[in-house]
Amino acid sequence: MSPSAPLAIARCATAPHAAERPPVLRERGQREVFCGLTGIVWLHRKIQDAFFLVVGSRTCAHLLQSAAGVMVFAEPRFATAIIEERDLAGMADCNDELDRVVDRLLSRRPDIKLLFLVGSCPSEVIKLDLSRAAARLSNKHAGATRILAYSGSGIETTFTEGEDACLAALVPDLPADRSGAASLLLVGALPDVVEDQFLRLFAALGIAPVHVLPARRAGAMPPVGANTRFLLAQPFLGETARALENRGAVRLDALFPFGADGTTDWLHAAATAFGIEEMHFRRTVAKGRARAKRAIAHAADRLAGKRVFFLPDSQLEIPLARFLATEVGMVPVEVGTPYLHRAHLARELTRLPAGTPISEGQDVDRQLDRVRAARPDLTVCGLGLANPLEAEGLTTKWAIELVFAPIHGFDQAGDLAELFARPLRRRAGLTV
Ligand code: SF4
Repeated sequence: MSPSAPLAIARCATAPHAAERPPVLRERGQREVFCGLTGIVWLHRKIQDAFFLVVGSRTCAHLLQSAAGVMVFAEPRFATAIIEERDLAGMADCNDELDRVVDRLLSRRPDIKLLFLVGSCPSEVIKLDLSRAAARLSNKHAGATRILAYSGSGIETTFTEGEDACLAALVPDLPADRSGAASLLLVGALPDVVEDQFLRLFAALGIAPVHVLPARRAGAMPPVGANTRFLLAQPFLGETARALENRGAVRLDALFPFGADGTTDWLHAAATAFGIEEMHFRRTVAKGRARAKRAIAHAADRLAGKRVFFLPDSQLEIPLARFLATEVGMVPVEVGTPYLHRAHLARELTRLPAGTPISEGQDVDRQLDRVRAARPDLTVCGLGLANPLEAEGLTTKWAIELVFAPIHGFDQAGDLAELFARPLRRRAGLTV
């Protein structure tokens, strides 16, 4: 295990009111999270004519294969080009080899319209300039396939940051919006069914046009410009937001769309920006909101008053802790997040119960010590930590399930609460 790292108490930089700023414990020690390659697992399903070519090692290939499971498509949408160890003199060969792999792939698979070269940790890959390779190969395959690069390396990214890096790589390539009319952009890879629910709600509100990033097809990526107003659907898209702002787009500040209140606030931010009349907004969301409240109430019976501890994993922790505290009645003991985007989460932070301890980064030994001392009713953590904690009699929830399950919006709010109730029910069943 890692040596103990010094702890520092820091203050939030940009939260709205000084009195409301919770103290943030900064941790810099050993991490127990997946790397950004994991994002390929959901991104390859989302962009249907894209392909993710990881330039990496056998470890990367194993991670992807075990995380994504058996491919159900006749034609897979990701693969790993394994780079063997070599010295600097061998790097020219490496580039030639990469070109050959890409040429072969694209000649076999003309259906691929967008190819991502995804970087990883091995030193041979770090020595390779994948952005330059992507530009070179894009020129070569111009008109047929666009080729972009981003890093999913475990040195640079944790778990969900792979999606951020991927979407940020797409932004400079988005067409310029020259229509002169305001448009709404939803940012973040959502399951199609959830995305469709939101698109129906925005249509019912009278907001148009509404685009999504990423689009389901490479040729349908959204235009962006100074009249673009965007809503982040995920709290881990800091680089993507910055890239969109560099193109003139403006982020709409809102809670993230988890639970009845989070979803209402998120929709309301767009309604306000697009001048939708308040009564029309309320009428339009009323049924969905009431449905969500009813569904949450089922699980809330079991969850109210229970203490929950979030270990840092996906950056979803703060919005989910806010949902559990304000809509379900749970008590957050500590909320850990791998990275705290103070501006994007400022609104969420003010809704957490006063004094909720927040930690940023990871020092797994110290955090486990705090979990053991607090003995929460439920610990939300990575796969690797769940089994040891269960063996110590603690009840755990795999954080990764919260990334893979549809949890956004009114119609998923009950399922979201249920995801936290299930482990408690299982534990109660074991101890009866
Ligand atoms: S990118 Fe790095 S951390 Fe991720 S699987 Fe490959 S070697 Fe492991």
